[in-house]
Amino acid sequence: MLSAAPRLIGLLLLLLVPIGGRAAATATPAAPLATKKIGGLDYVSVADVASQLGLKLAWIERGRKLLLTGPSARVELENDTRDITVNGLRVFLGDPIIDAGRQLYVSRVDFERCLTPLVRPGYGTAGRPLKTIVLDPGHGGRDHGTSANEKIFALDVARRAKKLLETAGYQVVLTRDADVFLDLAQRGGIANANRASLFASIHFNAIPNDKKTSGVEVFTFAPQFQRSTNSWSPGMGDDTEKEPAPVNRYDHWSVVLANAIHRRFVTDLKTFDRGKKLAHWGVLRQLNCPGVLIECGFLTSDAESRKVATAAYRQRLAAALAAGIRDYAVITEGPRSKASAASARPKHPRPKSP
Ligand SMILES: [Zn+2]
Repeated sequence: MLSAAPRLIGLLLLLLVPIGGRAAATATPAAPLATKKIGGLDYVSVADVASQLGLKLAWIERGRKLLLTGPSARVELENDTRDITVNGLRVFLGDPIIDAGRQLYVSRVDFERCLTPLVRPGYGTAGRPLKTIVLDPGHGGRDHGTSANEKIFALDVARRAKKLLETAGYQVVLTRDADVFLDLAQRGGIANANRASLFASIHFNAIPNDKKTSGVEVFTFAPQFQRSTNSWSPGMGDDTEKEPAPVNRYDHWSVVLANAIHRRFVTDLKTFDRGKKLAHWGVLRQLNCPGVLIECGFLTSDAESRKVATAAYRQRLAAALAAGIRDYAVITEGPRSKASAASARPKHPRPKSP
């Protein structure tokens, strides 16, 4: 168990973080936990994690399933799985939970870059006010995406979300506002050239010969030393990257953003929750800001594709995306004074609280 002293230091450091300052370069929490090498990776005990994040720990099933609870968090973890539940949402860790000596352990990277941002957003790293939002309608031009309609629906949802966010007072840039081809580097390049505060790439999913699978998936770029969620599927290889990508500097806030959008999709749209996942998406790799990729639904699903084909449902998808981004803004901007809020966005009204 962790002693009280590092927790106190961590709390003091948290209080000293300037609200609205530039985001820190890493998401490493203030006080490092004792690590244990398991399978060549650094692991930390879930008991220490609970202590540092201010959560109560209780066994749901001794030695196998744990419940962590706090003022605004409920996390369920199970031995030998990466599939966890955080406040009712399905989240995939990068490494499996491991039982070592009647205690459950979570990888250090998952503790720092998944659990911490989900349970204590902003812990050890300051947020920054939202200025320019870059929305990226996937595919375009000769690249249709997973079906003939993906590029069309992605652009339509992006345009609708842009309108909603602009009405709320944000500046929004689309990587494409026409049926044109852009390569992945160009999309991230547009975000970086516009000094984007966040980047969200909009896609629709497909599984050939499967008319039933439906639901939302929200991705962030896999942290350094972690593999993508899909690489654990049978027949796939370990795709861990040993070098960090530029976007890995924003792992903490990317997860906070993904969580905010994920929650809106699941609660507002009642869409099936396929989870928050990790991937080495090229479109996110070079970003100088937090970034997410959203698979809004399956165009191969009979039921979901029928819904997505309607303008009314695409408006609801756009509204969920915009609401998630506004929820994220509330978290990242923190309790700002009226004066600093006004100077940050002089030409636009303040967005209303969701
Ligand atoms: Zn796509």
